[in-house]
This record gives sequence, structure tokens and C-alpha cells, in this order.
Amino acid sequence: MSAEDLLILTDADIKMFLEHAPLYSWRHFKRPSVNRSSLHINEIDSYCDVCGQIRPFHDLQPRGGGAGMAIAALKTGTSYFSFTCVSCKKSKRTYLVEQVLDDETIKIQKYGELPRGNIPRDKILQKFLKDDRDNYEKAVICLSHEYGIAAFAYFRRVVENNISRMLDLIQEDAQASGEASETLKAIQSLRDDSPMSDKIRVANLALPSHLQPDGLNPLGRLYQVLSEGVHSLSEAECLKKARATSECLAFLVSELASRKEHRARFKSMVGGL
Ligand SMILES: [Zn+2]
Repeated sequence: MSAEDLLILTDADIKMFLEHAPLYSWRHFKRPSVNRSSLHINEIDSYCDVCGQIRPFHDLQPRGGGAGMAIAALKTGTSYFSFTCVSCKKSKRTYLVEQVLDDETIKIQKYGELPRGNIPRDKILQKFLKDDRDNYEKAVICLSHEYGIAAFAYFRRVVENNISRMLDLIQEDAQASGEASETLKAIQSLRDDSPMSDKIRVANLALPSHLQPDGLNPLGRLYQVLSEGVHSLSEAECLKKARATSECLAFLVSELASRKEHRARFKSMVGGL
């Protein structure tokens, strides 16, 4: 990547990097201004186990540098970060970072982190995929390490194995909300053996509009995923697609589950009147 395509490293980038980047994955930026002598930032946000919620964590170490001392330039080497929860003052977050600079750019990677970061899992999706748990676990773990090709391959398999159960949920929702017969017909025809290119087109008709935020069709995206081979895509493209697949699955399953729950509650409250 050439330096022109990069953004200048800011405090917000460092915060985001510390909070979310996996170990050993590099992030590239344009060099920050000459006034920046270290990667130091004052605050990150993190889930505090003691407080039981997301809290700000501050760097409470005394910073040296008396008056009149020359400011050293930021250079290639390593940086140490330590933050403490501002509320309980008990939880700590510690990071080790390597930075490599040249005339124009800086790249950074984490090479240590305490405590071990949690791998985020979607509870509702986990429940939906309980019979395919192994593939979903591997997909989530690969995604958390940014192993794009592997993550996409596992997510693709998860979609393949569960798309028919997804159609069951969509069909149930469409029937309960009295969708037009074309929608129900489209859902039915997705179960037939037809070329994948047809399915992507049909998927765009099979999803009720309340499941298409701003016209984006997550079911169409899932069929798109099934039509694409991992071999033709770069690592970065696979990573992007793996993330999008995870979001589409999570969105559909959680929307459908909460609509089902609301219907059941409404029926039990009002049906008896
Ligand atoms: Zn705390």
C-alpha cells in the first residue's frame, strides 16, 4: 500500500487499535506530526469485570519530562500501555505494541495484551447455530484473529448448512405477518434446485421489507456468499466478506427471534381478551 492511501495516525486510531486489534495484526498509517513523541493516549474504553459494565480506563502513571527537556521524536521500537478503570480503580488493561517507522509511514502491531481479550460471540446466533457449533466457533475465532480466508470459508459453510433453517424462520415470519403470496412463493422457490445466480435474484424478492434495513437485503448477501469461491478472493476481501456474513446472519436471526417473541407475547396478552 502506498503512503498516499494511508490516513494520519491519530489518538482515536490508537484507542481503536488498543481496544479492538487482534494480536500480531499490523495497522498502517501515515506518520503523525513531528510533535508526537510517543504513542501515549490517556484513555480507552473497556468492559470492566468488577463494575460489570463498559467503563473508561485511564493511564494513571506519572509522566516524566521536566521543564526544558527536549521532546524525543517518535521512533521505531516498542511501547507499553497501562490503563486502570476510573470507577473501581481495580481492573487494569496492559498492552505491548511494536511500532516501525519510515520517512512517511508508521505500522503498529500488538505483541502482548493482559488480560486476554474476549472473543465476541452473538448469543442469539450461537443458539440458532447450536447444531453447527463447531463451524461457527472456528469461524468466530478465525475472524477475531483476522484470518480472513479461513474465516470466510467457515462462515460460508455455516451459511450452507443453515440456510434452509433460516428460510423456515423467514417463512414463519412472512406467514404470521400476512405477506403477499409472491413473497411466500419466492421463499418456496429458494428451496428448489436452481442455479445460484437465480437464487440471488429470488432472495431479493423473498425477504419482507421490514427485514431489509435501508433496502439492504441480508438474505441476498447470504446467497451471494454461497455463490463465491474462496480461492478467487484476496485475504483482505475474504476478511471483509466474513465480517459482512457474520453481520447478516446476526441481523436476520436476532430480528426474526425478537419478532417471534413479540408476536407470542402479544397473542398471550390480547388473544385472551
Ligand atoms: Zn471498574
